Amino acid sequence: MPIKVLEPKVISQIAAGEVVERPASVVKELVENSLDSGATQISVEARGGGVSLIRVIDNGSGIPAEEAELAFGRYATSKITGLDDLESILSLGFRGEALASIAAVAEVELTTCAAGGPTGAYLALKGGEVASRGSRGRSPGTTVSVSNLFREVPARLKFLKSPATEASHIANIVSRYALAFPEVRFTLSLDGRVTLRTPGSGQLADSVADVYGLEVARNMLEVKAQVWDGGAGDSALTVSGMVGSPKIGRSSRDYLSIFVNRRWVRHRALAWAVEEAYHGLLMTGKHPVAVVNLALPPREVDANVHPTKTEVRFRDEPAVFGAVQRAVRRTLVELSPVPRISEVASRPSASPASRPPLWPPAASGGGVASPAPQASQTPALSLPVLRVVGQLLGSYIIAEGPGGLYLIDQHAAHERILFEQIKEKRSRREIEVQTLLEAAPFEVTPRQAEVLESHLEKLSEFGFAIEPFGERTFLVRSVPALLTGRDWLGAIREILDAGGGEGWEEKLAVSLACHSAVRAGQVLTDDEMREMVRKLEQVSLPHTCPHGRPTLIHLSLEQLEREFGRS
Ligand code: ADP
Ligand code: MG
Repeated sequence: MPIKVLEPKVISQIAAGEVVERPASVVKELVENSLDSGATQISVEARGGGVSLIRVIDNGSGIPAEEAELAFGRYATSKITGLDDLESILSLGFRGEALASIAAVAEVELTTCAAGGPTGAYLALKGGEVASRGSRGRSPGTTVSVSNLFREVPARLKFLKSPATEASHIANIVSRYALAFPEVRFTLSLDGRVTLRTPGSGQLADSVADVYGLEVARNMLEVKAQVWDGGAGDSALTVSGMVGSPKIGRSSRDYLSIFVNRRWVRHRALAWAVEEAYHGLLMTGKHPVAVVNLALPPREVDANVHPTKTEVRFRDEPAVFGAVQRAVRRTLVELSPVPRISEVASRPSASPASRPPLWPPAASGGGVASPAPQASQTPALSLPVLRVVGQLLGSYIIAEGPGGLYLIDQHAAHERILFEQIKEKRSRREIEVQTLLEAAPFEVTPRQAEVLESHLEKLSEFGFAIEPFGERTFLVRSVPALLTGRDWLGAIREILDAGGGEGWEEKLAVSLACHSAVRAGQVLTDDEMREMVRKLEQVSLPHTCPHGRPTLIHLSLEQLEREFGRS
């Protein structure tokens, strides 16, 4: 074929492919437009996974009637006039591509009324061309209805997932923006059913409760807005938001939202920075629930990396990375308090208001109902010096400290102590080994055999000398000294069942700690209890066991006096 320039319609359809990947992309662009227009109420409606219909209604500034048509032109925008403006603007849109792209691949109707305008404008587009226009009465704001998405782009249509999956992507987008803009009232209805409604109270906790449920909201800690590098004034970077206590770790990474100047972004390094801040607090394989807001001067960040604007680059990425990590870590360490007895006692067994989250579609991670931390509590970075009073039920150590009474779960506390010891000794290659008097054979399943074969060396670094002995049998020659006299076989099985892969060493350390720790029901001498408490005072994260359960609870002096009617 000879070279020729493509028809304008084909050009727009090709270009649209970059902006409108799936129905959720349309929702994203329309919601961003509504937010840019200063709306305080945004209602999103979708049918058939967004393919049949997407409608976004806002009460924002509206588009002046005489500009309505222009808004659908390619590269038509009211938000910038030149690239320089990107150094100072904070709007979510700026490329002037969204409405044109949507109109190129769907049928669109627009009704809009600018405040003070004589009357509202109506516009219908088909195949990117205006099909009808007129005026319509409307209160100030904009309604955009998009139907029959991708009808003329069968290739795209073919790549879409089931309506339910596409709907869940829409729910995801609306949820993220509901978290980013707690002051805006969002309503989402899917096939006529309202699935999300936020109050627009301005409180992030309210949005979190509506998106993730009450149980999660109760376990969120506020990241006190922290300003970094304020020296030059306008170069300041502020980190704020809410982070989930380690108790509500999730099995999926989808519960982390990062917003840069209120734009929802995907940023691997930043996501990693947040996860890093949870190091040693979350159980292996669990990921945090977190909403992290970054505010920085627009010239410090470039959102013009891709047409969908979900990627950003920072001028000084290490600084941003460090600030996020420190802010999150500090929040976790300072605000994660020792749970108090009253909270534990009054903890609801199952909250009636708790419901599966909208996103991800199948909630994979089981958060455990747990006592709510109180953000107002005094920092409990390390433990006070405690004096052992006695043992309760052979399972709990009763101790007295300056702040009142402490009940320590001996197994959980010992687990935490051993876990930190094991990791430290492992890094210094100082794990003590106990050679068995007689090598012990043990049988494994084919899957366990595979994990074992490929991890023999790692296991030996932790003190297990194991060698193949026949097809499904291995011989254990030595075990970590910690496990002497314990169920080391159970520990090995547990480790093998955890499979290999990412975080395996951490799981191994948790498993070793768990199998070596004193059990509940084991009577301890006074010396043993004192030793345990002294060691707990020294670990870096004394408040939780490596599985994320509390190691101790606190009954304060005030609480005692109140309960006994002394105050
Ligand atoms: P961009 O958002 O990048 O400017 P769009 O194609 O999304 O480009 O929108 C084009 C223009 O239409 C916007 O710049 C804005 O002036 C106007 N517009 C679109 N949606 C709305 C809305 N919901 N409320 C007010 N104005 C809007
Ligand atoms: Mg836009």
